[in-house]
Parts: sequence; C-alpha cells; structure tokens
Amino acid sequence: MAEVLVTGGSGYIGSWCVLDLLAAGHSVRTTVRDLAKEPGLRAMLARGGADGELRVLAADLQHDEGWREAVDGCDFVLHVASPTLTSVPRNDDEMVVPARDGVLRVLRAARDTGVRRVVLTSAIGAVAYGHPDRSTPFTEEDWTNVDGGIPPYQKSKTLAERAAWNFIATEGNGLELAAVNPVGVLGPVLGADYSPSLGLIKRMLDGEVPASMKFASGYVDVRDVADLHLRAMTDPAAVGERFIAQSGPSLWMRDIAKVLRDRLGERASKVPTRELPIWVARTVGKVNPQLRLILPQLGKNFDATSEKARRVLGWRPRPIEQTIVETAESLLALGAAA
Ligand code: NAP
Repeated sequence: MAEVLVTGGSGYIGSWCVLDLLAAGHSVRTTVRDLAKEPGLRAMLARGGADGELRVLAADLQHDEGWREAVDGCDFVLHVASPTLTSVPRNDDEMVVPARDGVLRVLRAARDTGVRRVVLTSAIGAVAYGHPDRSTPFTEEDWTNVDGGIPPYQKSKTLAERAAWNFIATEGNGLELAAVNPVGVLGPVLGADYSPSLGLIKRMLDGEVPASMKFASGYVDVRDVADLHLRAMTDPAAVGERFIAQSGPSLWMRDIAKVLRDRLGERASKVPTRELPIWVARTVGKVNPQLRLILPQLGKNFDATSEKARRVLGWRPRPIEQTIVETAESLLALGAAA
C-alpha cells in the first residue's frame, strides 16, 4: 500500500479521490488552504463512508510554505487543487497564476522529495478551446489555443498543464507525470460546498433557468473521474500520457433537462422545457457576465472521446443518465435545491 497526497481534498473531485484511496487501503494525506476546514472535511468524508488514516495539512497554491512537508514521504501525488469558477474572475491572472505557479510548486516539491508519480487533474479546457468548428471529437492530441479568445478558467488549465509537461521534460529528474482531463463533472455531492460544475443542475431544479441554452458539453461521473486518477497513478502505461475523462457523447442542455423531467417527475417541475434561441442568448449575455462566459460555446457541439482511457487503462465509466439523476437526488437530499 502506498502513501498518497491529494491536493484539494476539500473539493468535489478531491474528496472522491480521497475516499477511493482510503477504500483501496492507502495511507492518505490531503491539503486545504485553511485548517479551519478540517472538521467539515472529515464530516463530509465520513458521510461518504471514509474509513482509514487521513492527515490534513495546510498549503496554498499561491505560496511555497507547506508543500514540501505535504509531499515528503509520499509515493504518489494526485494534484487536484486549482482555482475553479466560484465567481466571475476580475482578470485572467486571478485564475492563471495560482493554477500555473501552484502546479510548479507541487511538482518541484515532489521531485525534491523523491515522489514516484504525480497525476495532474487538468481539464477538457486544456484540450478543446480556441479551435475552429470541427465535426470530429477532440482527443488527447489536441491542445487549447490560448490565443483563441478563450475564457480565463480554460486558459488557466491549459497554461498549468503546459507548464507541468515542460517542467517534467526539462527539470523533472525522473519524476513521472500523467494527466487526467475531465469534461463537466457530475455525480453525488458529499456536502453543501460543492463544485460549480453542479450549478447547472441545481439552478435547473430551483427554477432559475427559464430556458435551456443551446449549449453542449461532455459529462462524466465524479466517481469515474476518481477511478481514472487511481488507474493513472499506478498503471505503468499512464506515464507521460494525458487521458480525457468523458462518459459518452456530449449532451445539449435540453437533453439534461429532459432526463431530469422524465426521471424525477414532480421534483423536476421547475426544469425548463424550452430552448432559448442563440441570438436571444447573445443579447442577454451583453448584460449577464455568467452567460457571457459561455457565449463562444453556444451552438457548438464540443465532443471528445475517452477511447484512450478505455483502451490503455481499462476505464469503464457508468452511463451518464444515471449520473444526472443521482446528482439531482443528492442535491435534493442536501436541501441544496428545492
Ligand atoms: P472544487 O470543488 O471547487 O475544488 C477545488 C479545490 O481546489 C478545493 O479543494 C480548493 O481548496 C482547492 N483550491 C482552489 N484554489 C486553491 C489555492 N489557491 N490553493 C490551494 N488549494 C486551492 O472543484 P472541483 O470540481 O473538485 O475541481 C477539482 C479539479 O478538477 C480542478 O483542478 C478543476 O480544474 C478540475 N476539473 C473540474 C471539472 C468539473 O467539472 N468539476 C472538470 C474538469 C476539471 P479550498 O477548500 O482551500 O478552497
């Protein structure tokens, strides 16, 4: 059994990675920015059935302190922490700097303390943005074009992953790296402080989305993302590779709305039935900053393939319809949507 650090165990994906590692019998540590979060984190993991030894340490991606101590003695690091879209950033650097400099802090500490492998949680945002329209699915060969007028989050994920591969090539000194690139992550939540990626389903259930946008994305279950991290951590074939994590073909927003209405009945009575024409969305987007972030994506069917993760690592994600239903069920159970 191994000693493993998960950065950002307080987050949605990080917490499921911690649960999986504990269930597999590993000795696990995790970092949070503020140790005041520790009791809440432990309560959240207990709700998820956590069983095993967990150390919680403090480290912030924007500062050097704490990282060496956090990784020292670890066999593996799952570097999951990164700024996510909890609010609209004031400028690109607000997301880019902690994401890129943070990954380098973690890699440097891992190299210097003899960690064997780091698995980096990157994103489809480092793969599929800033390209002309295309009909073929994106693969791990594709890289987001940061000069293509892309939003700050996708820019941060691209520059962070680029920096990580560059570090490994030039000063990694034998440290192994694998990257996991999830699409939109859904699935059961363990606590009320959940990831922004669940916001769409919550807002649909709450009746805050009067009509679906013509917006498409791939989706994947958080439990399958955690499973892919663990496979990338130990499988020799994962070294030096990136793996897109997507359950199946991408879905339009109206497809998600339909699953919710069909499967949840009355509890999905506020979920939209109509789709907003793109020209109306563009007009509203001029005054709505949240909407403005997705305007470049409207009408485009961003599709990617996880064929590589299935073929190389034997990854078998569950069907996404079930994930959508379980996401909604868990939000409703938490009282996070009504
Ligand atoms: P989340 O629930 O918002 O978690 C983000 C985590 O990052 C939290 O643990 C947070 O720690 C930590 N973090 C943020 N800024 C930090 C900083 N400056 N220093 C240290 N830790 C910091 O988001 P998530 O959905 O689980 O995302 C986790 C990872 O998956 C991210 O790298 C994200 O880009 C990637 N990803 C997510 C999705 C998705 O759809 N959810 C898709 C693709 C990729 P605190 O508790 O201290 O705030």
